Amino acid sequence: ETKTLIADKTVRTTCTYCGVGCQLDVSVIDGKIKGIQAPETAEVNEGHTCLKGRFAFEFYDHPDRLREPMIKKNGKFEEVTWDEAYDFIATKLIDIKNKYGPDSIGGISSSRATNEENYLMQKMIRVAVGTNNIDGCARVCHAPTAWGMQQSFGTGAATNSVEDLKQADAIFLFGANPIKGHPVTGAKIKQAFMKGVTSIVVDPIKTKLAELATYHLQIRPGTNVAILNMLAHYIVMDDLVNKHFIESYTEKYDEFKSHVEHLNMDELALLTGVSKELVRKAAHAYATADRAMEFHGLGVTEHFQGSKTVMLLSNLAMMTGNIGKNGVGLNPLRGQNNVQGAADMGVQPHQGAGYLDVSKKDIQQYFADKYGIEKMPTTNGLKIPEMLDAAIDGKIKALYIMGEDTIMTDPNTNHSIKAFEQVELIVVQELFMTATTEMADVVLPASSYFEKNGTFTNGERRVQRVNKVVEPIGNTKPDGQIIIDMMARLGYEQPTGLTYDAANVIEEIADVIPFMKGLSWKRLGENGLQWPIKEDGTDTKMLHVNGQFKKGIGTFHHFDFEETPEIVSHGKKYPFILTTGRELEHYNSGTMTRRTDNQKILSDDVLEVHPKDAIKKGIKDNETVRIFSDRGSVEIPVKYSRNVKRGILRTTFHQPEVFINIITGSVGDKETMTPEYKVVAVDFERL
Ligand code: SF4
Repeated sequence: ETKTLIADKTVRTTCTYCGVGCQLDVSVIDGKIKGIQAPETAEVNEGHTCLKGRFAFEFYDHPDRLREPMIKKNGKFEEVTWDEAYDFIATKLIDIKNKYGPDSIGGISSSRATNEENYLMQKMIRVAVGTNNIDGCARVCHAPTAWGMQQSFGTGAATNSVEDLKQADAIFLFGANPIKGHPVTGAKIKQAFMKGVTSIVVDPIKTKLAELATYHLQIRPGTNVAILNMLAHYIVMDDLVNKHFIESYTEKYDEFKSHVEHLNMDELALLTGVSKELVRKAAHAYATADRAMEFHGLGVTEHFQGSKTVMLLSNLAMMTGNIGKNGVGLNPLRGQNNVQGAADMGVQPHQGAGYLDVSKKDIQQYFADKYGIEKMPTTNGLKIPEMLDAAIDGKIKALYIMGEDTIMTDPNTNHSIKAFEQVELIVVQELFMTATTEMADVVLPASSYFEKNGTFTNGERRVQRVNKVVEPIGNTKPDGQIIIDMMARLGYEQPTGLTYDAANVIEEIADVIPFMKGLSWKRLGENGLQWPIKEDGTDTKMLHVNGQFKKGIGTFHHFDFEETPEIVSHGKKYPFILTTGRELEHYNSGTMTRRTDNQKILSDDVLEVHPKDAIKKGIKDNETVRIFSDRGSVEIPVKYSRNVKRGILRTTFHQPEVFINIITGSVGDKETMTPEYKVVAVDFERL
């Protein structure tokens, strides 16, 4: 007998997983979420979702959900009341602050939380604790995008909107596999490829899109700067540049030009593993297209030269005039649902809300006035890797973490564990127990995105509503409420009172962040607003129209390829390069997706190995091997794959049973310290 279920109510909200920001219609029956549909009227996803957004919702009332606050006593967690937990944390934090100063405390915020919660979190650390030691998970993904694009254009965010794909004549996809990481945008890109748009993919892995592309430049991992220098060389030498754009809107082109002119293409072809002829054809395809649109992902940023690669991608767009019109631009595929928003809200140790430089006196005064306090902290704070190093050195004594599994997702796990072991107080707000909460002193149970209001900002700068679907599970509270309560315990009361209300916080954000002046809960409507948002509520689909760069002029930079220290130091002893990525079924450390049926579809991390490399070591398909680096070793099943070249290995980091970050290293992007997850010197052997 089939039964038609009729929902008691359906609530529109924004997906919690990736930076596409799909709108979802969530149906509730008898107070429980029973299904998710994709609304056709949603501008972002036009009736589509992927199997994460649509089906991976069972986690929200999973038996593993944390439901009560807990304090570790004699090595074991015991449930306590909220008041007990708050008092314990406040007493310890104030004690540590008095003894060692505010800079002995660090905050780690979460791109999975809403804008309002991220805004409050950075405010608590800056205003109630008194330090700029606030950072977030952009540090392990797109920090180089924000930093690099700021150097080139003045704004570290997507220049265009995804809908521009329809107008692009060429698509240049660098270091990203959106079919797995950003599936709805990935499907749109795939459609464009299949319709015959000129397409160039730069990726060490033969992804589905690489297979479909007109040109696949299958580089050796880590040679991004080298391949971009080759592309620029051919565009310059074959006179394919847009002189009008360069002369009218940019600076420092001549230095860049003379740098790329003199590069040795034979050497670079050898380094990258891609023939000169192929690179030249790709350069022509990009530069001669009427409208060429760039997308990039973590294959760009998670490298030793990550920020430099972003600046060279910006050069490519500027030298061909592919900026400031539909169907062009530089469009980072932001990983997490709200990684753009967390940075906008000031979850960075050097920039407060609105990317304002916290080391400047006038900015400190601006924030002090807005927050109604006398004095803001005056020096830049520590980035996450610096916080961990400072903990080992005994300088960081407390870590306050909101929704981040630092132990599982940061590189070189043993180093992170060593750092955590030195810290006197670790507080974690979370949905589930994780490797990080296990090491905490206090765990505070947070409400999931289904249980609260707020906003997320997707990869195209679009602020969208998150609407409460069901009441908070158990004794959980929204992260925003927890932060407001903690701030009050630390001596700072939110001007609007002790009850968390996302709309109130949005009003404050609109008052503080210059490019969000016209933001309000009401104005967001069903399809959100893309920043900058003017006072009258007008939003912005495209940046830098008519060469109007935020910093006044677009700046060219030039760099030589530099081999990563990971290979220089360890390459001889560990001859294989491991690169890590994601699968469609899971989201990052899998805290949520592993607690849904997606885990039944995909339950293992596997090591993709070229069959010839495996056979040479006598390793069979599906056999479990030991993979090791200078940092440690883990066991993992092998999967023969011709998507990787010989000498290259690929895996994912979704399953704690493998815990691949035990072997990843501490090398990071020079400018932002974003870890180089994409190049890890390793070897592997039969068990
Ligand atoms: Fe969610 Fe991204 Fe999938 Fe859309 S594409 S449903 S935002 S995970």
